[in-house]
Amino acid sequence: MNVVSVMAHQDDEMHCLGTMLRCRARGDRLWFVTLTDGSKGFVQRPDISPEEAARIRHEEMSALAAELGAQYINLRGPDEFLYDSPDVRMEVIEAIRRTGAHLVFTHFEQDYNADHTTTARLVRHCAMQSSLPVLPTSTPPLPEHPAIFMIEPHGPFGFVPTHFVDISDCEAEKVRLLGCHRSQEEAMKATAGVKAGFEEQCRRRAAYWGAQAGCAFAEAFVPMRARGAIKPFRVLP
Ligand SMILES: [Zn+2]
Repeated sequence: MNVVSVMAHQDDEMHCLGTMLRCRARGDRLWFVTLTDGSKGFVQRPDISPEEAARIRHEEMSALAAELGAQYINLRGPDEFLYDSPDVRMEVIEAIRRTGAHLVFTHFEQDYNADHTTTARLVRHCAMQSSLPVLPTSTPPLPEHPAIFMIEPHGPFGFVPTHFVDISDCEAEKVRLLGCHRSQEEAMKATAGVKAGFEEQCRRRAAYWGAQAGCAFAEAFVPMRARGAIKPFRVLP
């Protein structure tokens, strides 16, 4: 199975990476797709040029993907200014086709960042279109609509998960891998209202969801309620 994280930014995979590790352990292939270039990610450092910021974040995401033997596709849209447009849709369709996606993780439809919610809307539409020959790209259409699960947003307002994956055995490895995003670790710790790195942010959320599901650490998901994205069989590990 091809398992694909389609997110706005490099590091947004933080709330599905443990599940992706479980997928990898069962023999799945992993892919990471980001829709923006991450060039505004150094939120406290306007002295770092957008070009330099994008370069650093591409390297960090590439390093994480390489550790997992995963492929990384960076669509390099404008960070913080991602809009749904015909060109962006065709790029997302082509990226989803290239991955041969069976299972997609993406953002929840309500989140604090407009790039996140735009990405969720694009995935809803483009995952469906990825299997339609009427929209040709350089890769042939997918044979099937992929399953789609939405991750916990930052500040889970309105997020009522129905699917939980026990990540207790790989939680430490997940946190270690997220350390690849070194620049964002520093940026988050310096941001008012966040003040926590990946370890603290992910561990306390995973422990909370784990308490609901009866395990030490869990990741929580909402299936995308769209025809084709819902499957009549088990997809998550
Ligand atoms: Zn983000």
